[in-house]
Amino acid sequence: MNRILIAEDEPRIAAFVEKGLQAHGFAVSVATDSQQTLLIVEASTFDLLILDLGLPGQDGLQVLTQLRGEGETLPIIILSARDDIRDKVAGFERGADDYVTKPFRFEELLIRIKARLRNRNSANRQIEAILQNGNLLLDLRTRKVKVDGCWMELPCREFNLAETFFRHPGQVLSREQLLDRVWGYAYDPGSNIVDVYVSYLRKKLGNNLIETVRGMGYRFKT
Ligand code: CA
Repeated sequence: MNRILIAEDEPRIAAFVEKGLQAHGFAVSVATDSQQTLLIVEASTFDLLILDLGLPGQDGLQVLTQLRGEGETLPIIILSARDDIRDKVAGFERGADDYVTKPFRFEELLIRIKARLRNRNSANRQIEAILQNGNLLLDLRTRKVKVDGCWMELPCREFNLAETFFRHPGQVLSREQLLDRVWGYAYDPGSNIVDVYVSYLRKKLGNNLIETVRGMGYRFKT
């Protein structure tokens, strides 16, 4: 199921888009200001972001600039009442994939969302069959990892955890982020499941690769 985040402060529009997308089988979350949008995108995994420009806090264009500056590649469709060509140019220049002006028809937004997801899926299939970090390779098709020249299979959760690290090399990932991405449920502060699985991965990939960052989480060394 594709996950879509709607960044929209107007409840009526957010509810309209949310209901429409849910009816077409998407999992939808809503953020109502720029701060929340940035936090949710960083903490979770989405397939697409629908971004209003007139958001409380930072402007949507600043949100866009920050996300792209951090290397975030998820498709972003701007949905805004600003219909001036200069706004559209600014949006595309800062890394938006598409621009829909309000008022809009839901069907048009849906078509553009589907087009973006199709592009992303076919691009992902071509480029991302194998992820690499130094001598380590992770094959997304066979779900195997290559360590010291040998391919080995990883159990499902370990593979998903390894994939998360491979996709964020050098970045500190908190336990909450790892739980959300790998196990997909809300953080239980008492759970040490992440630490347990990190220790499994360390045994297989090598002890020094996954650093513990005190009080923060884990970092996959590049
Ligand atoms: Ca707005």
